[in-house]
Parts: sequence; structure tokens; C-alpha cells
Amino acid sequence: MAIQVIVVDDDPIVGSLSMELLKDAGFSALLIQDSLKAQEAIKKEKPSLVILDILMPGIDGLTLLHRLKSDPETEKVRAIVVSGKSFEAEKTRAAQFGAELFIEKPYDVDTFGQKITEIMKSEGVEPKKIALAPSAPAPVPRTEIKAVVWGCRSASSAVSPVVTRYGKHTSCVSVELPSAMLVFDAGSGISLLGNELEKSKRFKELWLFLTHFHHDHVEGLAGLPCARDAGFTLNVSGAGEPDKTLERALAEALEPGFGTDAPPCKIELYELMEQTYEIMPGVRLTAFYANHPGTTLGFVLQAEDRKIVYCPDSEIYGEYGTALQDYDEKLGGLCRDADLMFHDGRYTAEDYKNHRNSGHSSFLAAVDFAGRNGVKQLVLVHQDDSYPDAVLDQMGKDAEARAAKNGWALKVMLGREGLRLSI
Ligand SMILES: [Zn+2]
Repeated sequence: MAIQVIVVDDDPIVGSLSMELLKDAGFSALLIQDSLKAQEAIKKEKPSLVILDILMPGIDGLTLLHRLKSDPETEKVRAIVVSGKSFEAEKTRAAQFGAELFIEKPYDVDTFGQKITEIMKSEGVEPKKIALAPSAPAPVPRTEIKAVVWGCRSASSAVSPVVTRYGKHTSCVSVELPSAMLVFDAGSGISLLGNELEKSKRFKELWLFLTHFHHDHVEGLAGLPCARDAGFTLNVSGAGEPDKTLERALAEALEPGFGTDAPPCKIELYELMEQTYEIMPGVRLTAFYANHPGTTLGFVLQAEDRKIVYCPDSEIYGEYGTALQDYDEKLGGLCRDADLMFHDGRYTAEDYKNHRNSGHSSFLAAVDFAGRNGVKQLVLVHQDDSYPDAVLDQMGKDAEARAAKNGWALKVMLGREGLRLSI
């Protein structure tokens, strides 16, 4: 059934109340809580009326109203502003931007439906009497983001003595957005992604973000099939070393496959420093310096209303931290409330004692860190390549038990080659 009214309100209680009242008046309605999704949904559904709250995270209701009225596709939609922010200035602006009515919150439930009915009738829209319709209209689905672990071991596959169910390949994780394929690190795992891309031919462009140029993060570049495709574009972002430019470091990484020749694909280079970049519309990437020898980056990706962190080489000090070591705190600020975090979990707590200050973490320190900082899902990566399945299985169990014991709403797991996540 076509949607007649769209309600945009971030407050779930007021939003559901409006929905209830609209339903009682007989209109088919849709509630959108995320103002950033509203304009697109209104274009798609073409309702006769929109009901907008003013104070919302994302776009405020008056800006949304102005955009709707300035867009030929949506300029005809009628609009009501419902808000607790009832300064005269707001009312005047709402009217200037084309709202029919300004209703102050809390609104009168007895007259709300009646007012809507009057406006709709003047538009020639009758209630559809949707008594037989399902009780709640389907919410606008969140866009799915797919993340895949292609490699998560600590050392070159060529020298790894142990091949396990967790895989043998080194660092590579892909994050697929509706508009682009982002890839983090180009360890040997990227060959698996490369093969899949070659088969599916879905992308002619990759956005590659390199944390650093240690072998286990770039060794897959030289064999990447799409690098041999003249019609393919590789956008490579990373940081060089103080004495080596990004361009030079990349050329060295490509050399085993291409010698001193440039690969046939088109390469665009983006030198990063610690700051936030808008890498494409609506997609923000924060690069930050991770606690690891040499210039090493970690990344926070914010897209489609979600936050994903990739930080495979990073030493969280945990209980061994001193007052002068503020890395845990800095990282915490960057990662707070992330929906998904890939973090260094290289060592068992026991082995970490012998590897302190090497730039890698105890997996338990990473679990504690994620739990304390409200991370929703943690995938431990960069496991030491000498660990067999039995040790890795135990690490996974201990990580889960740790989160459960502390009562954190944290889902935690060990990364493994081929792990596919949907968030
Ligand atoms: Zn590494």
C-alpha cells in the first residue's frame, strides 16, 4: 500500500504516538527516525504529507523541510512541523519554508488526527481505512555493510609454520559500502579478495588503506590480479616514513611483481596524516597513529550511520600502562561505541609478558579495552602465526568469557580467513 504520511522524528515515543494517531485516523504512515535517511525515503515513497520534528541528530527538521521544498521532486509534498522548540523564530521559519502548520509538543492527541485529516482532505486524499493492514508498516531498512576478513595472521604466509582453521594469510579486511569497496591492508589475504573480484567483476575500483609498510601488510600487492588490469583503478591511501615517501614505499612493495615498471592499472595516491577525511559523500575516514613501531596508522570509518575501526597493529598497555602512556585513552576516544572493531589480539596474556613494547597486544587487554569503551563487536586479528588451533580456540573462548563475566554488551570473536560479517 502506498504510504500517505511520513513522520520524521528521532524520539521513539513521540514517533510511535504519531504513528498510532495516524493509523487511528485511517492513514498509512511510515516512521523514519534517522533524519539523514528521510529525504531519500520521501522521494521514493512520495507521500502526500510529511510530519517533521525540528531537533534531531543529523539534519534538523527545518533544514530538511527547506531541502524538500527546494527539490522539484518533492516540492509539492505538504508539511507539518511538530516540535518542542516553539520559539516564534522557529514558527516563522517553518512557515517561510512552506510548512502548513506548526504543532507544539506535547501535542493534543484528541485534535492531532483531526488536523491531519483536514489537511489531507484539502489535498483530496481520503483515509484508506487500513484496518486490515499489518499492524506496523515496515521500517526503512538500514543499508547493509559487509565486512570480510581475508587474512589475519601475524607473519608472512611464506614462513608461517602453522596452518590452521583460522587461516595462514596476513592482514587484509574488506568493507563493502553500497557505493564502494574499501580494503584495509594488502597482506597475502588480499589475493583471495583479488580472485573473488576477478570472478565477479563487480568493481573496477578499489579504495585501499594501508596501515603501514611492514611486509605482512603489503606482501599481497605485487600479486594482485586487478593491478594487472589497465581498466582498473587502485586508490591507495597511507603514510610513508619520515625518510620514505608513500610513493617510494608503494613502489618497493610492488617491485616483486612488476620490477621497476609501473603496474598497468591506474594508481591514485593519497598521503594521510592523523586527521579526518571525507573520502566520498557521507563517508568519513579518520586516520590516527597507532602504537606500533614505525609510522603506523589505524582507521575509523564512519558511513551509513555506523562506525568501524581497523587497527591490527597496536599495543594496548592495559594493566601495564603508566601515567605517561596515554595511548589507551586516545584510542578509547576514537573507538568509543564503535559498531565493529578489528584490533590486534596477537598474544595470549602469558606470551604478552615476554613481548611487551613490541607494538602488539594481549588479546585480553583488547577485550577489556573494547568492553570499557562500549564497542559492540570486536574481532581479534593479527594472531601470532606460531599458534595452533587449540591455542586459538582457547583464546576465543576466554575472550567471550571475559566479556560475559564483566557484563559488557560486547560480542567478541577471533578473526579467521573467510569470516563474513554483516552490520
Ligand atoms: Zn603486522
